[in-house]
Amino acid sequence: MAPDVTTVAETDPRLAGAVDLAREAAQTEAGETPVGEHVDVQGEPLGDAVTHLFDCGLRGYRGWRWAVTVASGGSEHPVTVSEVVLLPGPAALVAPDWVPWTERVRAGDLGIGDLLPTDAEDPRLVPGYVASEDVDDLLPELGLGRPRVLSHEARLEVAQRWREGERGPDAAMARSAPASCVTCGFYLPLAGALSAAFGACGNELAPADGQVVHAEYGCGAHSEVEVDMSAAVPVAELVYDDADLDVQHTAPAAVSDSASDGPERPAE
Ligand code: SF4
Repeated sequence: MAPDVTTVAETDPRLAGAVDLAREAAQTEAGETPVGEHVDVQGEPLGDAVTHLFDCGLRGYRGWRWAVTVASGGSEHPVTVSEVVLLPGPAALVAPDWVPWTERVRAGDLGIGDLLPTDAEDPRLVPGYVASEDVDDLLPELGLGRPRVLSHEARLEVAQRWREGERGPDAAMARSAPASCVTCGFYLPLAGALSAAFGACGNELAPADGQVVHAEYGCGAHSEVEVDMSAAVPVAELVYDDADLDVQHTAPAAVSDSASDGPERPAE
């Protein structure tokens, strides 16, 4: 392939023509693997060097190229090799772009004993002194102090995520519940900005025990649930079952004297 010299037109023509010199340098790096075809030549920013690209031919490096940079200090100086490196070409198989772990971690990734530090510039957190006035008033009173608290935007995101989660009002459990958490004796409202809409369930028999629930969530373990224990069919208190008669066999009664005389006759 003829080298694309349009980007190197203003450089010393000896640089673009130093293909053999560049190939020799690449072959020295490649060892016994033959260096492939010369595929391109590119100018360098300062105009005093160009980089020749060759197919590398190495197993496992399909699409990679030997990049040999040659330079010259001027027309009175020889062309020399500055650098030989292996670079991926447009069709090379390369690793995906690096994504910092802080952007890769997802909910549920945190295991027992894992630490998940927050970034100093984490947009979800703001200094404690910019919290709501209510919190400002409470902190000195309670003797509490936190360097940072959730920002307003982060609190809205939390509220939306919880509301749309499996402990929100649209959950299947909530839709079939007899009443909402907000009226349940086991409902423990959160303190702070989310207190109006969220609380914790304190019923050990409820599936949400120990979890944050929306005030409009609910379950069948609601404290005020009343189960109708009466029979579906009205039943009288005392019922005689006379459909079948049980025959009781008893011993014959002893014959008395009067009985042997026959029945009494009425006085005439
Ligand atoms: S027992 Fe059920 S209704 Fe009551 S707070 Fe817990 S989840 Fe809500």
